[in-house]
Amino acid sequence: MNTVAIVPAAGKGLRANLGKNKLLAVLDGKTVLERTLCALSSSPLISHIIVVVQQNDFDAVQELCTRIPTPSSLVLGGQTRTQSVANALSLVGDADIILVHDGARPYVTKEVIARCVNGAKENGSAIAAVSPVDTIAVTEGGVITQTPNRDALVCVQTPQAFRAKELQRAYQQVQPTDVFTDDASVYAKYIRAPYVVEGDRTNVKLTHQNDFAIGGAYYCGTGFDVHPLVENRPLVLGGVNVPHDKGLLGHSDADALTHAVMDALLSAAALGDIGKHFPDTDPTYKGADSIELLKHVVAMLREKGVAIWNVSATLMAQRPKLAPFIPQMQDVLSRACEIPACRVGIGATTTEGLGIVGQGQGIAVHATALIVKEN
Ligand code: MG
Repeated sequence: MNTVAIVPAAGKGLRANLGKNKLLAVLDGKTVLERTLCALSSSPLISHIIVVVQQNDFDAVQELCTRIPTPSSLVLGGQTRTQSVANALSLVGDADIILVHDGARPYVTKEVIARCVNGAKENGSAIAAVSPVDTIAVTEGGVITQTPNRDALVCVQTPQAFRAKELQRAYQQVQPTDVFTDDASVYAKYIRAPYVVEGDRTNVKLTHQNDFAIGGAYYCGTGFDVHPLVENRPLVLGGVNVPHDKGLLGHSDADALTHAVMDALLSAAALGDIGKHFPDTDPTYKGADSIELLKHVVAMLREKGVAIWNVSATLMAQRPKLAPFIPQMQDVLSRACEIPACRVGIGATTTEGLGIVGQGQGIAVHATALIVKEN
């Protein structure tokens, strides 16, 4: 089976406001597009990659393509994403499967690519998607008119893979008045309802300036917090309710993980600490949801021209076992920090029965954060 990947990279990326194609912005020493191409190239299932570019970027992208092992070719984009993909389809030759993947999703994994390619072989189509965490509502004139059942909704990502002949047939029927934002919609309109496969929450589409954090200086910060474990209190860590016979005692919800993360962020930005901004003598913060306080810190940093790059934390607790709750904590913290979940690292350890943590008197958290300040 011959699988060709099409990578639309001809957009202008206006929402990123970088003054150039966001895909050519450097992220950790490599452009976003090179990272995406490397990720696709790491899959043995892809035999050829076609990159759709704008004329201005042609030379730069051609140079990038020489650095990836998978054979590749370039084609010029059209006025819309749909036209760009149509241009690439004219070059796919005798491919069996076509996999379309956004140039702005550099964190795609081999596993997601394999699910899409194998799904398309089996069913004709396979669209990567994840279930939404937020409630999604329909609005009209600023008011919510409908709240669809969340269980029926998915957030659609790329890759999106299709039997080549079917996708080509769909594109041959596209009308000038059609407006599509992805290939699943083209396929759905002209062939049949496409199948969904499990995507990955870390497979985010880099869209806004904050996703890039470019052109600034990096600062790191650390934070530490400890709260006593007592009966008749809920145990909240990273905004997640952890079932346990005891909970943390404090003026707010005593979410030590979120507190340590806030302190790390404030420290990195040299903006003091949470005691200064949210004093425990202030009744406003009695029983406060610490995630809301974290969002406040994030907004404060944004006002100062600071973007968050990543946060990392170590939970220290003898009991309960925290590992099963870590993915959910990553998810909640990443949303509050407005960064992808793959940039929130959380580990958990016991202290082998030693000290206040080991004897079950409390839970302690150490956190670090890296921020980028605009020059
Ligand atoms: Mg605290």
